Amino acid sequence: MSGRIEKSVARCIKCGAPLSQRNIWPIVAFPCPTCGAQLQTAQWYRRVTTATGLLCPVALALAAGVRTWRGLLIAELVGFLPSLYVFVNFFKFLVPPKLVAGLPKDASLNLRDEPKSADSRPR
Ligand SMILES: [Zn+2]
Repeated sequence: MSGRIEKSVARCIKCGAPLSQRNIWPIVAFPCPTCGAQLQTAQWYRRVTTATGLLCPVALALAAGVRTWRGLLIAELVGFLPSLYVFVNFFKFLVPPKLVAGLPKDASLNLRDEPKSADSRPR
């Protein structure tokens, strides 16, 4: 045993095994370390993580006194990759993600966690 204590924030939806934050990938699907089931965070969680990472450079530039569109654009272009990296890797420690069943990357149907309210296909 390593003797380290890790706080569990979520459980596998298939086998119920506790998952530490280090095992959770906020943007992509990942396997459960115990049963191997594909898991991913809820779609709203991925959107909030990405949007926060994208908006953070603009917020920092505004806080630093930048008031021109050109300055905000430059701040976004320079800052969005580092900001996205930080939020994708550390946001999960602040806000524990909700887990859902993962789908393979090449799944083409919209079968993720937001079902359509009505079927609008023509017959
Ligand atoms: Zn599992």
